[in-house]
Amino acid sequence: MRIEQDIKLDFKDVLIRPKRSTLASRKEVDIRREYTFKWSRQKYHGVPIIAANMDGVGTMAMARAFAAQGDGLTAALHKHYPLDDLVAFYEKEGSANIWFSIGVAERDEEKLEAFLKTPAGAKLDKLCIDVANGYSEPFAHFVRKMREKLPHVTIMAGNVVTGEMTEELLLAGADVVKVGIGPGSVCTTRKMTGVGYPQLSAIIECADAAHGLGGLVCADGGCTVPGDLSKAFGAGADFIMLGGMLAGHDVCEGEVVEENGRKYVTFYGMSSSTAMNKHSGGVAEYRASEGKTVKIPYRGELAPTLQDILGGIRSACTYVGARTLKELSKRTTFVRVTQQINNVFGES
Ligand code: 5GP
Repeated sequence: MRIEQDIKLDFKDVLIRPKRSTLASRKEVDIRREYTFKWSRQKYHGVPIIAANMDGVGTMAMARAFAAQGDGLTAALHKHYPLDDLVAFYEKEGSANIWFSIGVAERDEEKLEAFLKTPAGAKLDKLCIDVANGYSEPFAHFVRKMREKLPHVTIMAGNVVTGEMTEELLLAGADVVKVGIGPGSVCTTRKMTGVGYPQLSAIIECADAAHGLGGLVCADGGCTVPGDLSKAFGAGADFIMLGGMLAGHDVCEGEVVEENGRKYVTFYGMSSSTAMNKHSGGVAEYRASEGKTVKIPYRGELAPTLQDILGGIRSACTYVGARTLKELSKRTTFVRVTQQINNVFGES
C-alpha cells in the first residue's frame, strides 16, 4: 500500500485569477479551436464541446440543434440507436456534428461492422470508444485494432485519469483521450468502488501527457456550471464532454412528465439500473449499478443554456486577456480556495 501525498484538485477547489487585458469586449473573443488530429490527420474547427453519449443527451436532435447553432459543437450519439436510424442520419445529415459511439462488447463491434457495410459507412469520420474503466489491457488492444481498421477515422477513447494511461491509449491509436473516472453528475463509481481522481488534476496531468505526444484530451464529467468549463479549458482540456448540463431540454428525446404544475424529465447514468434494465435486460449478477437516476426540471429550449455556457467561457477569456480559447490555458493561474479535498462524491 502507498499513499500519494500530492494535493489533487477538483473544479470547486480553484478559481481563475484575473489578469490585465487589452480586450474591450467578450465579442472580441474567439472560442473556436482548430486541431489536426494525430492519427486520422483530419481537421476540426469549432467550439470543442461534446454532448455525452448518454440517453437524453447524445441524441440526434441534440446533434441537429448543434448543426443549426453553427459553432461546430458535436454530439457523441448514445450507443442504443438502431442501425437503420444511424444510417439514415449519416446519409441525410452527414457526420459533421456527430461521433459514432461504441463500447467493447461484441454487439457494439458487430453494429459498427454492419454500419460500415452500408453506403453511410464511408461517412464515418469520428468514433468514440468508451468504457467505464479504460485501464484494462483488452481496451488498449481494442483501440489498436480500431486504429488499424479505420486509419482515417478520428478516434476518441477512454476513460482514464492518469498520464501514463493517456500515453498508452494515444500510442495505441487514439487521437483524443477521454479523461474522467467518477466525476459525472449521475455517476456513483466513487461511492460504489472507492476509485476516482479529482477531475481538475486529472485534466492537468493527462493534458500534459497527451500534448507531449501530439495528442488531445477530452475532459469528461463533473462540469456543473459554465465556470467549470473555463477551469477545464484553463487546465488544458482540448474538448469538454457534458452530460448533466445539457440534459432536460426539448432536444433530449426524453419523456416529459408533469407533477403539481411543474414539468420534469428523468435523467440517468448509463451504468444505472434504469439504463441496464432498458438496454441490457437488467443488471448482470456479477456487477453493481454505478450510476443513479434523478428527476430534473424540464428546461425547454437548448439555445439559452448554450448561450450561458458559451458566454461564460468568452467572459472568462476576457478576464484573463485571452483573445482566443487556445490562449486561455496559457493565461490561466489557478488560485486554490479550499484547504483540503472533501466531498469527493460531488454532492452538495
Ligand atoms: P456530467 O457532465 O453529467 O457530470 O458527466 C457526464 C459523464 O458521466 C459521461 O460522459 C460519462 O463519462 C459519465 N457517466 C455517464 N453515466 C454514468 C454512469 O452510470 N456511471 C458512471 N460511473 N459514469 C457515468
